[in-house]
Amino acid sequence: MVGKICYICGKTLLRQDEVNEDHVPFKGLFLRDNPSGIIKLPTHRICHSEFSIDEEYFRDLLVITSAEWKPTADKILEEKVLPSLLHARKRKFTERLVREELKPLKEIPYFTNLPPALAEQKLGIKMSVERSDRVLLKIAKGLFFNETQQLIEKLFPSIKITQIFQFPIRNYDSSFPTIGDYGEFKYAKKELPEGIDYYFIFYDVQLFKLIFRKIGGG
Ligand SMILES: [Zn+2]
Repeated sequence: MVGKICYICGKTLLRQDEVNEDHVPFKGLFLRDNPSGIIKLPTHRICHSEFSIDEEYFRDLLVITSAEWKPTADKILEEKVLPSLLHARKRKFTERLVREELKPLKEIPYFTNLPPALAEQKLGIKMSVERSDRVLLKIAKGLFFNETQQLIEKLFPSIKITQIFQFPIRNYDSSFPTIGDYGEFKYAKKELPEGIDYYFIFYDVQLFKLIFRKIGGG
């Protein structure tokens, strides 16, 4: 592992004791502890740890909003998310989730499908865009680095991430195939002269599009 590049920061890994093995996408998304075929990349321990809270936040919100439709997400909610939210050290997170992320539906135009309990109260969950973008960008960086040994944001510094919460998934160009299928996470990649589009699908319910372009490439 020493001598390789950390795909998160782009610097060389110099010491074995600072190296961590990172899963792309992160392990917490999955019901199984060891999803088969998942990409593993070395990173600095510290680079990796900087994402753990955002990854958990992202997973928790995705699972909460997917559980109604997908048995796998429902199982993750029961086995992983709810027990950890009830844990004492997580109370602050739960309180914050309820206080800040639950908003009146009229303030969340893009969010169309909700668990009935929330829909009845006319509440929706509004995910922090900064947190979710950080997590999504890290996944794209890992997928791209695994293929090319390069940092995607260096080649395509203009980055736009859009979230399309819908079930069944619409607005998805199915004319190009899904190239990675890990069950809970699927992705497709479209290479264009001006850049790359990634489509990420979580739990077959949540679709995100990541648009990477050269500067000035639109
Ligand atoms: Zn690093």
